Amino acid sequence: MIINEITEITDKTEEIDGEKVYILEKHMKTGVERLKELARMNKDDDVLAMLNRDSKFICEKQNFAIAFRDIKALPWLPCMIYKYEGQWRRVQLEYANCLKCDWKGRIANPTEPSLYGGLKNEFELMRQAARLPSLKCPKCGGEISRKAIWIEDEVKD
Ligand SMILES: [Zn+2]
Repeated sequence: MIINEITEITDKTEEIDGEKVYILEKHMKTGVERLKELARMNKDDDVLAMLNRDSKFICEKQNFAIAFRDIKALPWLPCMIYKYEGQWRRVQLEYANCLKCDWKGRIANPTEPSLYGGLKNEFELMRQAARLPSLKCPKCGGEISRKAIWIEDEVKD
């Protein structure tokens, strides 16, 4: 990824799961613009293209942000975070479907193991994430195929 200095994007830090990360939120317009510009300048960079999509997503939705992890072997590993009951949680955006009706949609899943890779207490964090209550289908209230702490609200028929 072509971000040499994370401070080109954000200088805001937070401690999430005992790890210091840099975070980009939607109100940080300069960082969002800078990301867009970098993605435009480096069209072949997949991570930047993904980050550009993620930054659009956090601007459209409530309570999402992008965290940048300082992983020794890699330059600034990005990860989506979601503010759940006042606390930032690492999540993976996924598609899920209802096990009862025809609903399909985007969800945020906090149990994806790679989100916690390299953290000191990664297994405990994964167990905690697994214990969070999962949201139900917004259409019929049935179980959905994946663990979700956020579910896309608009349902298109
Ligand atoms: Zn359903």
